[in-house]
Amino acid sequence: MKAVRFSTTAGETRVGALDGETIIDAGPAGPLGFVPDEAGWTSIADADGQRYRLDDVKLLHPVQPRKIVAVGLNYRSHAVESELSVPEVPVVFAKWPSSLTAHDQPIVIPREETRPDFEGELAVIIGTRTYRASRDGVLAAVGGITAIQDVTGRRAQLETPLRQFTLGKSFDTFTPMGPAIASLDGLDLTDLDIRTTVSGEVMQDANTSDLIFSVAELIEYVSRGVTLEPGDVIATGTPGGVGDSRDPRRYLRDGDVVETYLEGVGTLRNTVRAER
Ligand code: MG
Repeated sequence: MKAVRFSTTAGETRVGALDGETIIDAGPAGPLGFVPDEAGWTSIADADGQRYRLDDVKLLHPVQPRKIVAVGLNYRSHAVESELSVPEVPVVFAKWPSSLTAHDQPIVIPREETRPDFEGELAVIIGTRTYRASRDGVLAAVGGITAIQDVTGRRAQLETPLRQFTLGKSFDTFTPMGPAIASLDGLDLTDLDIRTTVSGEVMQDANTSDLIFSVAELIEYVSRGVTLEPGDVIATGTPGGVGDSRDPRRYLRDGDVVETYLEGVGTLRNTVRAER
């Protein structure tokens, strides 16, 4: 099953079941958007409201989380290209939820950011409140998955003596998410293809089998001291191929189209716009 949040031409914000190119209305969206808990998925399974063509609505990022937990250097290929050693514990940082944007919405590069980069990622959405998860039962905490583009201002990230991940990764619009949240039915989180293209050129092409820390290990680690709430998002890290590590370097430019494909979810598409 896939769930979306969208606004209608009448300006209402709704959630719905996505079936191919059709959205079946499942009711009004709450302040957190679509939360993939048991009640959320039941409403999607039972959706029988108005039908919309995907082209006739504006998709919104599906969930409005309280927090976005992000993980750095979580694919061997990305640790190697970053010339950093493979971490022994997860490298955790935050992206502010105010940086979220939706499928088909622009990524706007602030005027000062000279090295805007792309990072396609698997994001898991928490469905069950979790504290000190044990690894065996931990996947029960996950309510669904979606694609995230962890857009990164490398200038802001790297211009300080200690890498300041949060600012460079939290500029407005730097976290496109979507297009939908997929339920876990039939999906193996340790074997999903993930690919990012920029203006048609494949930049990152990997599989979640290359993750250094699995989704279960990340949740186990983060939930020691942090309560994960329904709707919270964990962006699990990006594979090799980012623009800053390419030769020649390839940063995002005005007019670029960034497509983030995640198996089981679909393709998140965003255009890049330079701030005037
Ligand atoms: Mg990242």
